[in-house]
Amino acid sequence: MAGKVLLGDRAAVPSRVATVSLHTSPLDQPGTGDAGGLNVYVVEVARRMAERNVAVDVFTRATDPDLPPVVELVPGVNVHHVPAGPYGHLDKNTLADHLCPFIFGMLRAEAEGAPGHYDLVHGHYWLSGRAGVAAARRWGVPMVQTMHTMARVKNAALADGDSPEPELRVKGEDQLVRQADRLIANTDDEARQLVHHYGASESRISTIPPGVDLETFTPGDRRSALRSLGFPDGTELLLFVGRVQRLKAPDVLIRAAAELIERDPSLRDRLVVGVVGGLSGGGMHEPGLLTELARSLGVADVVRLEPPQSRARLADHYRAATATVVPSYSESFGLVAVESQACGTPVVAARVGGLSTAVADGVSGVLLEGHDPAEYAAELHRLVAEPAWRAKLADAAPRHAATLGWSRTVDELLDVYGQALAPRAPLPMAACR
Ligand code: UDP
Repeated sequence: MAGKVLLGDRAAVPSRVATVSLHTSPLDQPGTGDAGGLNVYVVEVARRMAERNVAVDVFTRATDPDLPPVVELVPGVNVHHVPAGPYGHLDKNTLADHLCPFIFGMLRAEAEGAPGHYDLVHGHYWLSGRAGVAAARRWGVPMVQTMHTMARVKNAALADGDSPEPELRVKGEDQLVRQADRLIANTDDEARQLVHHYGASESRISTIPPGVDLETFTPGDRRSALRSLGFPDGTELLLFVGRVQRLKAPDVLIRAAAELIERDPSLRDRLVVGVVGGLSGGGMHEPGLLTELARSLGVADVVRLEPPQSRARLADHYRAATATVVPSYSESFGLVAVESQACGTPVVAARVGGLSTAVADGVSGVLLEGHDPAEYAAELHRLVAEPAWRAKLADAAPRHAATLGWSRTVDELLDVYGQALAPRAPLPMAACR
């Protein structure tokens, strides 16, 4: 039987955690559709938990009848495919209708083990949180929640043409914030948003930044990386990596490139705008929108759209780039920015959400207020035209990224798990009246 390990005065360590990732699977390719930083987070944390003898079962919705019920990701980490609703891709906004069968599937999986199979539940994103709370209550174990994104925060920073998050999500998040035993925020900013927008009690929030895989994302020779991607020496690659959606604003980079070329026409022959990632709704459903934009701005010849890439191949892209550009309207953290810096490539990003933590402004990259393409063009021009400035940022970038490894994330998560597992002090009398 699993059971938390109590180590004298030290915090309890769970033996087995039920991690919930309802709407997107850790087995999905990140960078397209609904798969992104959350998937990377779940995989990286689960792997490292397992290395520390904390077994992790990840529960995700089955999207295909042929999926095996359980897949081993690495020893100690299993992914459970729970049938809930019709197979195939479902719009995230309809998934709340399928919470009941999903919760039932989780309970059934647990019932196959001995009593007390899971010590703790950790939900990722509000839908998972709603399912996780129900399972945790049934099992009598603590529930830890990471929101990743929040409806009220997104709705306050919508890009033109983007649609607001539905009221159902807002209300679901309100309830979840009250029910979870502990809330994990990626940044202090997110912690403040939990308090400001959802009335969360500060004492239940812990800020734990996500990390970067410092073994895959390492600095490397820029010229060989350019060659490995088929670009000639001297190419100035401006890189966007991530899900193609309005909120991430890849169009700002394309507009900035057009301004850059207008400012310095000699750049046209060596400038490449690389957009790596797949469509992800959110106002950019139609394929071809970016190509159309590039054509209308007269820069179709420099824009290269690429499908989602593996982690190793992404590292080559970062190493080859002059800069990675992250002009998002809202970003709970911005793993792409940290990965780029870990590879020694400066980042030009919007000063929103977690990007203020992910990028050390003026040290490992540049943070800009707003989304004016002219300002992005000016910063990118400086990086192209002043090699010493770029070299200074590139030199500092891996050092900044090194402060954000996943090991630290996992250490801090285990501390919070320990606090959640600690026997609760009886409520003071005043609170009982
Ligand atoms: N990603 C990837 N391949 C791609 C594009 C993106 O593996 O082709 C990964 C990227 O490396 C990062 C994640 O997807 O780890 C995106 O996370 P981020 O926090 O930047 O954005 P989110 O998707 O959470 O909004």
